[in-house]
Amino acid sequence: MELTGSVNEVRKQVKEWRRQGLTVGLVPTMGYLHEGHKSLIDRAVAENDRVVVSDFVNPIQFGVNEDLSTYPRDIEADKKLCEAAGADLIFHPEPEEMYAPDFSTFVETEHVSAGLCGKSRPTHFRGVCTVVSKLFHIVMPDRAYFGQKDAQQLAVIRRMARDLNMDIQIVGCPIIREADGLAKSSRNTYLNQEERQAALVLSKAVFYGESMIKQGERDAAAVVTAMRDIIEKEPLAKIDYVEMVDADSIEPLDRAEGRVLAAMAVFIGSTRLIDNFMIEV
Ligand code: AMP
Repeated sequence: MELTGSVNEVRKQVKEWRRQGLTVGLVPTMGYLHEGHKSLIDRAVAENDRVVVSDFVNPIQFGVNEDLSTYPRDIEADKKLCEAAGADLIFHPEPEEMYAPDFSTFVETEHVSAGLCGKSRPTHFRGVCTVVSKLFHIVMPDRAYFGQKDAQQLAVIRRMARDLNMDIQIVGCPIIREADGLAKSSRNTYLNQEERQAALVLSKAVFYGESMIKQGERDAAAVVTAMRDIIEKEPLAKIDYVEMVDADSIEPLDRAEGRVLAAMAVFIGSTRLIDNFMIEV
């Protein structure tokens, strides 16, 4: 497995693979890799001849008061995980390699990025779409892999790829959780012991909401209220949002029908965590 920080090196390698008639999968990440990322890499390795993992903490998807400077990084551990999973190339650029000082071009979706996380992080998805577009242009993969953990991000990327005729299959992968239910996240490392325990209210609410729908509840407000009640019992938790929306358009739903996404963002202390479930009704 190779590691490079150079756009040109990635291009050269991918061109060579293409010349050999090989297919290429891309797994975009911000590093500090865990089992959730590994599940994406595993799937990419299974479905493509060659796999590129990008490992880049993308500054333009962080708001001014967010955790860009403290976001956890460990490229040596990431290398080991990628190598063991069978990835072929890690693209680990410096911000200067990705953004010229006078960088001035952005990719932005409307509507689908407006609700949920888009409300509290107004520039986030523009940063995500821009960096993912750049990665798509650099790697030109056949397939790109994204986690359902970031369900709105997945919807936004699918919409961007469709709207801009990107000839890349967007593959969504299920949420990987800790044994006690907490969705794996690089940001879980911010939690102290007490907060780690408190963070279980997210998955508890997710599992409960999902079970209500499976048992026949269709009223979105009833499900959301029950989920909020579980979270509000935890003194360390502060809800940013809990909502039921259409999984593709991210438009609010009154009734649980179609491709239903129930998503939440909750502060545990100062750490903002997200979780969700998606169900076809
Ligand atoms: P990140 O490094 O947090 O930007 O995540 C990179 C990719 O890994 C995104 O597509 C995430 O949705 C995905 N991912 C992160 N955590 C998980 C998880 N627990 N289960 C599945 N996918 C995940």
